[in-house]
Amino acid sequence: MSGPVLRIRDVWKSFDGHDVLRGIDLDVAPGEVVALIGASGSGKSTLLRTVNLLEPIDDGRILLHDLDISDPRVDADAVRARIGVVFQQYNLFPHLTAQQNIALALRHVRGMRRRDADAAAVAALARVGLSDKASAHPDRLSGGQQQRVALARAVVGAPELLLLDEITSALDPELVGEVLDLVRTLADDGATIVMATHEMAFARDVADRVVFLDGGRIVEQGAPSDVLVSPREERTRAFLSRFL
Ligand code: ADP
Ligand code: MG
Repeated sequence: MSGPVLRIRDVWKSFDGHDVLRGIDLDVAPGEVVALIGASGSGKSTLLRTVNLLEPIDDGRILLHDLDISDPRVDADAVRARIGVVFQQYNLFPHLTAQQNIALALRHVRGMRRRDADAAAVAALARVGLSDKASAHPDRLSGGQQQRVALARAVVGAPELLLLDEITSALDPELVGEVLDLVRTLADDGATIVMATHEMAFARDVADRVVFLDGGRIVEQGAPSDVLVSPREERTRAFLSRFL
């Protein structure tokens, strides 16, 4: 499949009569890394949640490859099995070990047998450098290690698309790097990623495209070297000036 992995077309979403997404158009190509930036409340999480079918949209269309996933008749579980997601926090089940957290997803979402799921989970933990934490529960892991397990779980089934919503925002500063390094590795391995982030240096280094949201609209987008370094729009400049 060579066309866009994701096509978002004129998507509108309101909460309590307040428009939160106002005509979003966004295509994401295979292997592309898109960084969504914008102030708190600009609609980043809502946009990611609509793609993962956690929020129904009011108008527009969303296509995953050629499947219209905004069609209410779509099998939401089947769509979610094709998309890996990591949120800011509370990603892991506290009563399960790291390995069990990953294996559970494989068994329930992908219908794998226990033995195969366990083997895949072990391999996934090795890939994120946490082989020695397979039998650890989340409360015995650092926040950075928890997010690495969550990333392992998100990518273990080779999803077509990875959605990351400010996955380092809740971490102590010294733990951010190990998580971003892993995202960089996934990107280098060819993952298609849409990530909401406040890590501007990371966005500049890793993203192919930066998309600036303001008030539920895409105000400006382009190469990181353009949008982050010499933005055209005053609103983008004002937003970025907070990070200087
Ligand atoms: P961001 O992730 O960019 O901070 P959000 O997508 O979380 O922005 O929020 C966009 C706007 O939508 C905010 O005004 C927020 O208060 C509102 N919002 C988000 N989710 C809900 C919800 N479930 N119910 C009502 N309002 C919501
Ligand atoms: Mg958010």
